Amino acid sequence: MAIRSYDYIIVGAGSAGCVLAARLSEDPATKVLLIEAGGPDKGWLVSMPLAWFRAMTTPSLGWGYTTEPEPFADNRPIPEPRGKLLGGCSSINGMMYSRGSPADYDQWAQMGLSGWSFSDVLPYFRKSETNWRGASAYHGGDGPLAVARHLNDGFVYPRLAATAQAMGFKLLDDFHGPEQDGFCAPDFTVKRGRRGSTAALFLRPALGRPNLTVQTRTLTTRIILEHSRAKGVEILNDGRMDKVFAEREVILCGGAFNSPQLLMLSGIGAADELREAGVTPRHDLPGVGRNLQEHASVASLWEASGRFTFDSQLRLDRMALSGLQWLLFGTGAIAGLPVGIQGFVRTREGLDRPDLQTLISPVAMDAKVWFPGWRKPRGDVFSVSNVLLHPESRGWVKLRSADPNDKPRIRLNLLQAEADRQAFHRFIRFTRDFFATQPAASLVLRETAVTAAPRTAAEIDDFLRSAVRTAMHPTSSCAMGLGPDAVLDQNLKVRGLEGLRVADCSSMPLIVGGNTAAPAVMLAEKAADLIRQRSPAMSAS
Ligand SMILES: Cc1cc2nc3c(=O)[nH]c(=O)nc-3n(C[C@H](O)[C@H](O)[C@H](O)COP(=O)(O)OP(=O)(O)OC[C@H]3O[C@@H](n4cnc5c(N)ncnc54)[C@H](O)[C@@H]3O)c2cc1C
Repeated sequence: MAIRSYDYIIVGAGSAGCVLAARLSEDPATKVLLIEAGGPDKGWLVSMPLAWFRAMTTPSLGWGYTTEPEPFADNRPIPEPRGKLLGGCSSINGMMYSRGSPADYDQWAQMGLSGWSFSDVLPYFRKSETNWRGASAYHGGDGPLAVARHLNDGFVYPRLAATAQAMGFKLLDDFHGPEQDGFCAPDFTVKRGRRGSTAALFLRPALGRPNLTVQTRTLTTRIILEHSRAKGVEILNDGRMDKVFAEREVILCGGAFNSPQLLMLSGIGAADELREAGVTPRHDLPGVGRNLQEHASVASLWEASGRFTFDSQLRLDRMALSGLQWLLFGTGAIAGLPVGIQGFVRTREGLDRPDLQTLISPVAMDAKVWFPGWRKPRGDVFSVSNVLLHPESRGWVKLRSADPNDKPRIRLNLLQAEADRQAFHRFIRFTRDFFATQPAASLVLRETAVTAAPRTAAEIDDFLRSAVRTAMHPTSSCAMGLGPDAVLDQNLKVRGLEGLRVADCSSMPLIVGGNTAAPAVMLAEKAADLIRQRSPAMSAS
């Protein structure tokens, strides 16, 4: 069999990988191979925004990960959905566009990672997007990633907005303008009513390039190391093992669980742990899989005082009409998500940026299409999702075995840190205050029994242990940094090796205070320039 060789091999066609492949293959003289373990991103489950909850729980679209029993969450294994298809998580996620706070990136730079301050990364956020607001100092006007406005609910939104103002918060036009603190409707990566994954918006337009090869349903099982240089990868496709070679670099974009797993399978990690798993150590790098960070999230439910929530839209005949509208025009209830309002809030004195992201939706997350005589409606409720933006708790990813088909072991240690538990006490108080303030108070009858019951500090601690889950934003398991646990340098290169980088959410030194898809896109945009040794100004031209 002929030896296959490329300039760059990218492992993982996810949020970051599709962007990187599209950017590197812009140079026709550069041969790029993009390898994806999952299949294509076809079908309405992927493209229909309202179907995201079904998409994320559809086994054929995901890796099916759950954590090890979580010691600070009643020893519950907690699901961690991850997309296994073209677009990765961007093909199954909630599409909310968020960058985090400028201070998050300035903190990366203060850690010694030059080139990662907010003013350094802003050009890449701008380059990647076409924002509905048009180009400005904060936004891009001609990038591939469509960032669209969410249609506000004409009844619920003004009342939630007025409540936020009555509590003294600012009503913003944009979470990514001069200020992040306040309330506003979020933006979504949706284009003409269809999911705007990175597969759809970055990769698909590049597929016709003769210098770009995309190989789906192919698991990368090992990085081929020669001395201290990555020379290529071993792959498994349809039961057949093969090898492909990289003239210049191998770049891992497998996400926060799979990138560290692949490094460890290749002998790159903490030598003693690798031996325990049956892998011969090749390069002792103890930080691989450590420093795992995740946004803990706790929900509450509130019974609505009338039939004005999204539940009424879910009646079968109305959904059928919405479906038709969506198919024909890409508009209507199905073309977006029923989000009421979002807030970024500092819940205690002395913080330099928000610690709470609160999302109030006029619908239960498990609501289904209903019709009298067929299925009962879920009922009119508001669901509130409170997300801890800067957790102190740290988890890990380890090998279960030397078999690349085995899922990695994941422990998040959610709520391990006392500070994280205390934050949720504040968040619960905050949401109760919100719904005690007019006009939101008149939108609800009461908090539903389960989330209303905990009142004392001890009861709230018990409740948190039983209810905490994730915002599905794992990061930092192959973190950039300068210290002994750093896996990558500031150029995303694996320390001590040649020809090997990691560019995905695992590369973040600290989790950002917002959702993680747009930062993954930014990371890949910047990785492309680092690899091509270009500056933002050069790549904008
Ligand atoms: C259900 C859900 C909802 C979310 N909602 C939002 C949201 O609304 N807004 C937001 O900003 N963020 C959201 N997120 C988080 C966000 O989507 C992810 O953090 C981000 O997209 C991860 O990007 P990534 O490039 O690091 O990894 P991924 O997008 O996970 O990409 C990794 C890719 O690599 C492939 N791969 C892995 N290992 C191998 C291997 N060995 N060989 C070949 N291929 C491999 C995977 O199949 C996958 O396609 C959500 C996530 C989920 C799961």
